[in-house]
Amino acid sequence: MRRITVLGATGSIGDSTLDLIDRDRDAWQVVALTGGRNVALLAARARGFGAALAVTADPARLGELRELLAGSGVEAAAGPAALVEAAERPADVTVSAIVGAAGLAPGFRALAQGGRLALANKESLVAAGPLLMAEAARHGASILPVDSEHSAVFQALAGEDIATVERIVITASGGPFRNWPAERLATATVAEAAAHPRWSMGQRISIDSASLFNKALELIEAREFFGVAPEQVEVVVHPQSIIHALVGFVDGAMMAHLGAPDMRHAIGYALNWPVRRPLPVRRLDLVALGALAFEAPDPLRFPALRLARAVMATGGLAGAAFNAAKEVALDGFIAQRLRFPDMAAVVEATLDRLSADRGLTIAPSRLDDVLAMDHLARQTAGAIVQASRT
Ligand code: NAD
Ligand code: MG
Repeated sequence: MRRITVLGATGSIGDSTLDLIDRDRDAWQVVALTGGRNVALLAARARGFGAALAVTADPARLGELRELLAGSGVEAAAGPAALVEAAERPADVTVSAIVGAAGLAPGFRALAQGGRLALANKESLVAAGPLLMAEAARHGASILPVDSEHSAVFQALAGEDIATVERIVITASGGPFRNWPAERLATATVAEAAAHPRWSMGQRISIDSASLFNKALELIEAREFFGVAPEQVEVVVHPQSIIHALVGFVDGAMMAHLGAPDMRHAIGYALNWPVRRPLPVRRLDLVALGALAFEAPDPLRFPALRLARAVMATGGLAGAAFNAAKEVALDGFIAQRLRFPDMAAVVEATLDRLSADRGLTIAPSRLDDVLAMDHLARQTAGAIVQASRT
């Protein structure tokens, strides 16, 4: 039996992860499950999977969680420090599936165990890629990608020398607004933005997919994960979401990874690696698919990719500022304080202001440096959101 902890066990990736564990109960012992505010679901899952510990991020809900777990033998805890403690409990595999920068510290701390971090929380790599990779190396831990595109790249690289890689191409569905004219984007509602055409995901990443901010984060994630130069990572729009990524080599060959859009593939691969085990994902019918389409992303309607390129060129703390500003802008859109196109404008204005006032190019030496920039960028972006309303 392998011990597993799922950080973000009540979300979309948490669902898919627990579905796989449920199908293979004899293989796994659940150590800790964590969640946000939905303590009823967290408690039900902790009971159902016989977890030793359940942690809610919200300290105000500890009493409720305790009541729900009474008599179950599952320990209850709450708050950000308890999340980190959950990540530090000995486990062979930790799935990092909290959404946003809140996932950074718990995932980072889990690496000290020297085990495996199955990383869905791409925000960690965007904000603190070099620190995270160095921490993994220091403890002999492995980080396995759970993002579908990065899992695809990882699989296409199996047995290859990274020095022979010319380019990495990650695909984007283009989201629900792929064919919307620019004027119409200003009228986009939260429900329209969250309705992803191909993938069923949490609300935040779905809206980020509509704005291509998700792909912007993934460009940076790919660069950090695979250690290639920014110009070696490309994005192509592929509306069918069948090819998840391609790797081009110095001899001109390209290896593509194809599969049905189902996160259980990438999660299962990360859990089972280095072996492949049967997974309950739909098999492709190539004849039914007929053709695969590709197009270039439109930089005018979707500025996020351009911003990601600027962030990679700046380096240092720019990724932490970018992610934090994006989270604040997304909050503003969800709260209907910002229109859809305003999100990119807020992120760009935040980066401009911070690079004028602060050294965004300074490389962080500790996690606290990243968290301090995260905090500062949230304040700056928040002030810009406020000002944009009046
Ligand atoms: P989600 O919103 O469905 O779930 C997020 C989880 O994090 C929940 O358990 C929630 O309770 C918890 N959470 C939220 N705020 C928290 C906080 N402040 N502190 C602690 N826990 C908190 O999100 P998701 O779609 O499952 O995405 C999770 C992560 O995986 C994100 O980083 C996302 O980018 C990444 N990812 C998701 C998918 C997908 O298909 N859903 C694909 C690739 C990558
Ligand atoms: Mg992805």
